[in-house]
Amino acid sequence: MNAQSRSYQVGVIYGDGIGPEIVREAVKVLDRVAERFGFHLEYTQLYLGGSSIDRFGVPLTQETVELAKKCDAVLMGSIGGDPATSPWYKLEPSKRPEAGLLAIRKSLGLFANLRFSRLFEDLKDSCPLKESIAREGIDFVILRELTGGLYFGEHKTEVVDGEDVATDVLSYSDHEIRRIAVTAFETAMLRKKRLTLVDKANVLDSSRLWRKVTADVAKDYPQVTLDYMFVDNASMQLVRKPSQFDVILTENMFGDILSDEASMITGSIGMQPSASLAEGTFGLYEPSHGSAPDIAGTDKANPLATILSAAMMLRYSLGEEEAAEAIEKAVEEVLRKYRTPDLVTQNAQIEQVGCTRMGDLVAASL
Ligand code: NAD
Repeated sequence: MNAQSRSYQVGVIYGDGIGPEIVREAVKVLDRVAERFGFHLEYTQLYLGGSSIDRFGVPLTQETVELAKKCDAVLMGSIGGDPATSPWYKLEPSKRPEAGLLAIRKSLGLFANLRFSRLFEDLKDSCPLKESIAREGIDFVILRELTGGLYFGEHKTEVVDGEDVATDVLSYSDHEIRRIAVTAFETAMLRKKRLTLVDKANVLDSSRLWRKVTADVAKDYPQVTLDYMFVDNASMQLVRKPSQFDVILTENMFGDILSDEASMITGSIGMQPSASLAEGTFGLYEPSHGSAPDIAGTDKANPLATILSAAMMLRYSLGEEEAAEAIEKAVEEVLRKYRTPDLVTQNAQIEQVGCTRMGDLVAASL
């Protein structure tokens, strides 16, 4: 950042499927908020996933990694296509779009993924849970470990005694757990100071290490209440009483699954922003959902998760808190009257709008 002019370098990955549609709207909103709060954003276009395969033959190039490292933060739409029809899925697994995503997370050291679930006041009627549950409010964040565990362990399929046997290794080290536990406690300190570690410590050694290390880190945060929950129970509690959660800390695969469930209870997966943080202030910001190839190009995508991810970028990587809050307020205001088709409502006063119009409305509200 240039201190005098407050100028930031932002990498932009438009991605695949609905990616370009939703990122366009987020950039529109960012430009408007930058103008209003007097800072400058310079964008570097980066390629990842399917668009990188089409351009360079691989889902991630070293050049993209180097360009991303020069940025203050990266904003990304989702990547990938329909595995049943897209030619990208005829390639071997290590050359497919998702391999690029795993590789960029690793290369940029993005070990902590924060997924925010907040039920906006005006979306209570879009919440699929009972009204009595929605009324209690939903506002929590899941911290998912992003560069270790099952997705990064050894994967192999071999023939043993005449039959195929597939193995995926789940492994965590003390330092991998400790650094995200610190991020989780710091996050809790800024919120309601409640942290729940979700694991399967009754079965898995890796979970038992998570408990040991997290309990150790807890000694430095006596103000934070730490409790533990098994993942199967957590998946049930998320729909039974989501108001009990403030910060949830969990490993990679559990976080992957629980955060999708968490996104749904706030109305739609199209509403959940996410931040993937490295040490320091660098982060990659993207919606929690995928590239939704089923609605790509139809202007039906909800761009709000991406717009809210851009707000997270302003808050966590660029230090522009006021601008971040302004975006969140604008989204709240627009939702009072307008919804994209994924946000079900019985309210006849609400107007249904497409992706582009939703972006225009948020930008105008700023
Ligand atoms: P998905 O999240 O793309 O779609 C699931 C359902 O939610 C679909 O019905 C889709 O139309 C809907 N949906 C998703 N985002 C929406 C939005 N913003 N507005 C309205 N509706 C929305 O999940 P999927 O179908 O399992 O995956 C599709 C592709 O996305 C796959 O190639 C997958 O690998 C990839 N993917 C990428 C990421 C990422 O880039 N981080 C994450 C998950 C999946």
